[in-house]
Amino acid sequence: MAVHGIDLGTTCSAIARSDRDGRPEVLVGMTGEATVPSVVLFASDREHLVGEGARRQARLDPDHVCALVKRRMGDSEWRFVSHGRSWSAAAVSSLILKSLCEDASFGSGEPVVSAVITVPAYFGDEERRATILAGTYAGLDVVDVLSEPIAAALSYGFGRLDGAPTMTKDGPDGAYETVLVYDLGGGTFDATVIELADRRISVLSVDGDHQLGGADWDERICLHLARRFCAENPDAEDPLDDSAGAQELVIAAERAKRELSDRESTEVVVAHDGARSTITLTRAELEDMTSALMRRTIDLTRSCLEAAGKRGVGSVGRVLMVGGSSRMPMVEKALRSELGLAPELHDPDLAVAKGAALYGAKKELERMVTGDLVTRGHLRAAELLEDAPPAELDAACRRAADALGLPLAQVRRSIDIKVDTVVSRGFGVLAANPMTGELEAVWLVHRNDHLPINVQRSFGTVRRDQDAIEIRIVEQQSQAESIRVQDTKLLIAGKIEGIPPGYDEGSEIRVHFTMGFDGLLTVFAHHVDAALPLTLTAQTGATLSQAEVARERDQLQRTRRRDA
Ligand code: AMP
Repeated sequence: MAVHGIDLGTTCSAIARSDRDGRPEVLVGMTGEATVPSVVLFASDREHLVGEGARRQARLDPDHVCALVKRRMGDSEWRFVSHGRSWSAAAVSSLILKSLCEDASFGSGEPVVSAVITVPAYFGDEERRATILAGTYAGLDVVDVLSEPIAAALSYGFGRLDGAPTMTKDGPDGAYETVLVYDLGGGTFDATVIELADRRISVLSVDGDHQLGGADWDERICLHLARRFCAENPDAEDPLDDSAGAQELVIAAERAKRELSDRESTEVVVAHDGARSTITLTRAELEDMTSALMRRTIDLTRSCLEAAGKRGVGSVGRVLMVGGSSRMPMVEKALRSELGLAPELHDPDLAVAKGAALYGAKKELERMVTGDLVTRGHLRAAELLEDAPPAELDAACRRAADALGLPLAQVRRSIDIKVDTVVSRGFGVLAANPMTGELEAVWLVHRNDHLPINVQRSFGTVRRDQDAIEIRIVEQQSQAESIRVQDTKLLIAGKIEGIPPGYDEGSEIRVHFTMGFDGLLTVFAHHVDAALPLTLTAQTGATLSQAEVARERDQLQRTRRRDA
C-alpha cells in the first residue's frame, strides 16, 4: 500500500503518491482540482463541509467557517467554537485531511492508509505533534512529518536528475548544489538553505515565521479597500464592521492580489450597506502598502543566508521560490534587488506534495527492506539499514525490486538518499540564576544544530532524600535566543520522580534530551549513583491532555460513523 505525501497547507492542501516509475503524481478528487482549500464549514453540530464549497459558503456563514487553522497548530489553548461544539486545531485539520484522503481514494481507487505529512521547517515540537495528532484523528498512519522546503528540494532534485543535471561544485559526497528555498505560502513563510548532493539532502539553516503569508497581504488590501469605500460613502457602514461584509472583502482582496500578479492595475467592486464603489488598485499601490511584510521575508531570508554562511556556504547556486504567494512579482524583485539573487519559480503549488510523495515512497521501500532483513536475521529491529551487511542489503533491495516490479537502481537510489536536517528552534530548561535568583532559560540546543540530537544535562538534588525534581523544558519563541522567560514557549512542565532514598544533597540526576529527524523531542532521566531510570510525568502543552485527546477522538469517530 503506497505511502502518500500530503501537503497540509494553510490555505490549500494537496495529496500525491509515487507512480510505478517512481514519479510523483498529484491525485485529483471529484472536483478535478489538484489543490483543495483548507477551509471547513460547520453547517450544523453534525455536518461539515471541506474545500471549495466551504470557502464559497464562507461569505454567507462566516461565524461557522474555519480557515487558516494551520496558524493555530500547537496552540493548545485555541478552539474553534461552532454550533456549541469546540474544535482544537488538530481536530479541524483532521477533517481537512480526511476529506482530502477520501476524495483522492475516490479518484485513484486506492485507499489512503499511511502518509507523510509536510510541515513548515520552522514548526517546532508542538506544532509537529499537533500535525501527527491530526493525521491520527483522520485515521492515518503518519509515517513521518517532513519539512516543506525539504519536500520542495526533493521534487526539484528529482526533476533535475530526470532532466538537466546542473551540479555546481564538487565535495566529499560528489557533486553538489546549494539551494535556497524561499517559501511564501498562504499563512507561513520559510527560508531554508539546503545542500543537494547526489545521495544526500542536507539542511544547513532554517528561518521563518508561521504568522506571515499571503493572508497578511489580503488583510492589508482589505484595510485599504475599506478605507477607500468609507471615504467615498461616508454614510454607509464600514464593511469590516460586519462579518459577512469583511468575508466578502477578503475574497475580493485575494482575487485582486492574484490579478495584480499578471497586470499592473485592477478594479474591485465593493458593495455594502446599500452603497457601491468601484476601486482601482494598482500593483504599485499593493507593493507600497505591503512593503513591511515583504521586508520581513527579506530580513528572515538574509538571516537564514547568514546562518548558512557560518557553516561555510559563501553563496547559493540556485534560489527556488515555492508557495503560491511567491508568484507576486514583488517577491522576485526584492530577492534580486535586496539580496542580489536570481530566483526561479518552482512548481509553486505542488512541489511540496510531490516531494512528500517521493519521500513517502522512500519510507515505504525502507520499511519493506528493513522488514525483509529483520525477518532473515540480518538486522535487529532497532538498527538502521546502513548497519546491515552490504551484501545482504543489496540482496534485500533486489527482492523488493522484484516484488514491486521496479528497477533495482530505483530502489537502491531511493534507499540510499539521506536527509540531514537541523533543529528549527532551540530548546532548553528553565533554571534559577544562582547570582540573581531569577528564573532564566538555559539553552541546551540551538537553532540550526544538526539532527539527530542527543544531549544530557545533570541536575543536583537540593536536599537529602529528595524524591522528585521539577523540570520545565522550553522552546525558543523569539527570533534570537534570549534568556528571558517571556521569550520562551513552555514545552513540558514535568516532575522527575522515583529518586531513591538514602542519597545526599547534590546527588546527580542526568536528563537526556533526544530529537530525531522528525524534530520531535523525547526526554528521559536517570539517577547516576543508583544507575536507576526515573519516571518523568509531564504535561505537554504540545497537544492536549490525554483525556481531551480521547474525548476528541471519540467525538470524531462518532461523526465518522454518522457520516458512514
Ligand atoms: P499556498 O499556501 O502555497 O497554497 O499559497 C496560497 C497563497 O498563495 C494564497 O495566499 C494565495 O492568495 C496566494 N496566491 C496564489 N496564486 C497567487 C498569485 N497568482 N498571485 C499572488 N498570490 C497568489
